[in-house]
Amino acid sequence: MADVALEDLVAWLRRFQQLVAENQAYLTELDAAIGDADHGANLDRGMSAVLAKLEETPAPTADELFKRAGMTLVSTVGGASGPLYGTFFLRLGTALGPESSVPVPALAAGMRAGLDGVRQRGRAEAGEKTMVDALAPALDAFDRVALAGGPASDAAHAALAAAEQGRDATGLLVARKGRASYLGERSAGHLDPGAASTALLFQALDEALSRRQ
Ligand code: ADP
Ligand code: MG
Repeated sequence: MADVALEDLVAWLRRFQQLVAENQAYLTELDAAIGDADHGANLDRGMSAVLAKLEETPAPTADELFKRAGMTLVSTVGGASGPLYGTFFLRLGTALGPESSVPVPALAAGMRAGLDGVRQRGRAEAGEKTMVDALAPALDAFDRVALAGGPASDAAHAALAAAEQGRDATGLLVARKGRASYLGERSAGHLDPGAASTALLFQALDEALSRRQ
C-alpha cells in the first residue's frame, strides 16, 4: 500500500481552498438560514491565508504543513469554524510528526486525533447538527478501508460518500451547538454549514489522492 506523499497533502489543502472559494456563496447561504451568513466568507478568508502562507514558505514536513494551516485558521477566522478547523489540522499535524510521506493508517489515526480535538473544543457529539456529523462518519469510513489495507484513494472515496451522507442527514437534526442552536426546533429543515464545508474537505482529499493514481 503506497504512502501518501507530502505533495499529496499539499494538494489536499490547495484543492480545499479552491472548493471553499467556489462554494463560498453556497456555504454562506446555508449559514444565512440558521446562523449569521458568514461561514463561506470565514473559511474562504482562512484558507486563502493558509495558501498564501504555504506559497511564501513551502512546508518541509507533514507536521509543519498542518500546524501552519491550523495556526493560520485559528488566527484569521473569527467565527467558531476557524478554531474548530484549526484544531483539526493542528492535531493532525502533531499526530503525523516530521515526515515527508505518511502511511495510510497513520493518516487515518491523525485525522481521528483531529476529530477528537474538534469534539473537545466544541463539546459537540454526533447528532447535534455540527461539522462533527460529517467528520465522524467520514473518518469511520476512511478507517474501514485503511484498516483493511486499502489504498488511500479508496479510503478517501469512501470518506467522501460518508461525509456527504452525514451532511445531508443534518437537514433533519435540531441544532444543539453553535449559533444555529439559538433557533431551537426551527433549525431543522436546513443543512448545517459546517457539515457542508466538511464534505468539501473530503471532496478535496478524494480529488487530491485519486489524481495521484
Ligand atoms: P459562527 O457560528 O461563529 O458564525 P461559522 O459560521 O464560520 O462560525 O461556522 C458555523 C459552523 O461551525 C456550524 O455550522 C457548525 O458546523 C460549526 N460549529 C459551531 N459550533 C460548534 C461546536 N460547538 N462544535 C462543533 N462544530 C460547531
Ligand atoms: Mg456563521
